[in-house]
Amino acid sequence: MNSATRSHSDALGFDPDELRKKYRLERDKRIRADGNDQYVEVTGDFSRYVDDPYVTPGLKRDPLVREVEVVIIGGGFGGMLAAARLREAGITDFMLIEKGGGFGGTWYWNRYPGASCDIEAYVYLPLLEETGFVPKQKYTNAEETLAYCEVLAQRYQLHEQALLQTQVNAVRWCEDRRRWRVETDRRDQLDARFVIHSNGPLNRPKLPGIKGIDQFKGHTFHTSRWDYAYTGGDTFGGLSGLENKRVAIIGTGATAVQCVPHLAASAQALYVFQRTPSSIDVRNNQPTDPQWISEQAPGWQKRRQTNFESIMSGVPVEEDLVGDGWTEAFRNLFGSLGEHMPSKARLALWALQGAFSGKRRERGLKQYLTDRALKYMGLVEKMELADFQKMEKVRARADALITEKSTAESLKPYYRQFCKRPCFHDEYLQAFNKSNVTLVDTDGQGVEAFTEKGVLFDGREYEVDCIIFATGFEVGTDYSRRAGYSIEGVNGLTVSEKWQDGMATFHGLHARGFPNSFFFGPMQSGFTAAFTFALDENSIQTAYILEQLKKRGITRVEATAKAEASWVKTVIQKARLTEDFQKSCTPGYYNNEGHVQFQPQNTFYGGGPIEFFDLMKKWRAQGKLSGLELKS
Ligand code: NDP
Repeated sequence: MNSATRSHSDALGFDPDELRKKYRLERDKRIRADGNDQYVEVTGDFSRYVDDPYVTPGLKRDPLVREVEVVIIGGGFGGMLAAARLREAGITDFMLIEKGGGFGGTWYWNRYPGASCDIEAYVYLPLLEETGFVPKQKYTNAEETLAYCEVLAQRYQLHEQALLQTQVNAVRWCEDRRRWRVETDRRDQLDARFVIHSNGPLNRPKLPGIKGIDQFKGHTFHTSRWDYAYTGGDTFGGLSGLENKRVAIIGTGATAVQCVPHLAASAQALYVFQRTPSSIDVRNNQPTDPQWISEQAPGWQKRRQTNFESIMSGVPVEEDLVGDGWTEAFRNLFGSLGEHMPSKARLALWALQGAFSGKRRERGLKQYLTDRALKYMGLVEKMELADFQKMEKVRARADALITEKSTAESLKPYYRQFCKRPCFHDEYLQAFNKSNVTLVDTDGQGVEAFTEKGVLFDGREYEVDCIIFATGFEVGTDYSRRAGYSIEGVNGLTVSEKWQDGMATFHGLHARGFPNSFFFGPMQSGFTAAFTFALDENSIQTAYILEQLKKRGITRVEATAKAEASWVKTVIQKARLTEDFQKSCTPGYYNNEGHVQFQPQNTFYGGGPIEFFDLMKKWRAQGKLSGLELKS
């Protein structure tokens, strides 16, 4: 190290080159050849992991056979918002199908102890102004969120039009009747004019495909099907059933971070098997100030959501209304550009990006020039430096809160902050100070095997009574596998066939070959950190289109081939240049378990959600339904 570099490192308090090296090392030791195949699917012998523990089994009802205008698949926030917006638009002939025993989607399933949302409730919980509901705290919890789903269900009369505990098996297009035949596991047959697919991006649990996973003789379950009959207690903890139990939890992602403190409080012994530590920043939950909420002017929630997502996507704002760990992290990244970038250079960069978007240029050329411009202005380094500084603070927090030095060291994440889902928690790290809690740091390798009695790692068998899988959800697998049902469109084309070489949609919502269908989700659409915001925008757009079709007597709507091809091109041209970043990251579901197959069309709309929502608003204002082929 020369003296200039040394004094730069001294001023920073860390050596960027050393950190870069460390990050690479930590990534490399985690890359595995089997990628997504390291997990086993929850079918066959493993299908019990997706049974619904929250209902009394044995529901019987007659199959429903009827025609209906709209079928909504999924009773999470997406499905509920779709139903709410349809009702507002005067479209009332719909049926909602949901496999769970109630509404809530991810919140229905994930009610493990400590489950809560770390996106601010005033942003995350949709339709607060419409319902007049006031969340008790800045960050809501599973119980309140589920209760709120019931508020929405009552207000928009969803129970009367829902088939709960019902799993869709197949959706098939009948061209001669211009309807979708929707079949379920309860032998329902709904002939729907339109189908809205809102099946949730993180809905299918996954299990590690480790030797002996079917050998363990004790109790096991996945966090998204928490077995309170075994553990006792509820979503607030008090797991009295574990008082004389030895428990292993596999995984230390956002879910484990929330339930570990409760397991630590109740279990006789808790072994936390860690492959990669999460980054744990300050949460700082606070009660809602009733005066503050009563002073908000109409339209406040949309303004707050827009403000939040603007900060998250680098759009300049005058004020940070939310002011929390999320917005601080993004202000830190983008703000570092804003402060350091000379305005002429910034203009030049924007002009450069603009000059190539919308034109038929090779993406390679655009990428090359944009990379050059960024490099020239030193922006890549500035963002990296801001990230290093942030993560140094996160690592220092482990030192400050954990008594045992080697445990603190093991809990320090060595990767860029957004390589994995950042976590915010004020009790997780401290749980490792308890004498009944052992962190088993597998140093990136994961557990070796399961035995009849417990978990094997590094030659030691950890005997336990119960293994809890906090191993997350399928992301990179086939659409129909994740959705849990097949979709056959025009001439029997399936979605898997349609998208085998990359996604193709119009506005992320329509797919040619699948008339009268609406696909909710972030791909080729506006992606928001507060996912419910984007789902509401999907719902507003869908309700507008259906209202227009009704007015115009249209019975068949499909994206034109031209509009779809043009949208795919737009998505590619606007795709954010994340390939290098993703490759530098430690593996996880954000980067396809380290096997980055960057296809710019399989991404979100790169102009950011705010630009995307504006685009949709303008499209609606034109009133032409352009890009859609309409048949009456
Ligand atoms: P994740 O996929 O984020 O985490 C899975 C965990 O399992 C990782 O720590 C992973 O390690 C670990 N793992 C996998 N295989 C093994 C193995 N063989 N041995 C040891 N560990 C293993 O799932 P989560 O359920 O935690 O979170 C999913 C998403 O849900 C989040 O990213 C977030 O979007 C959302 N969520 C949001 C919350 C919030 O609002 N606060 C709370 C909870 C979830 P590795 O990292 O090495 O792959």
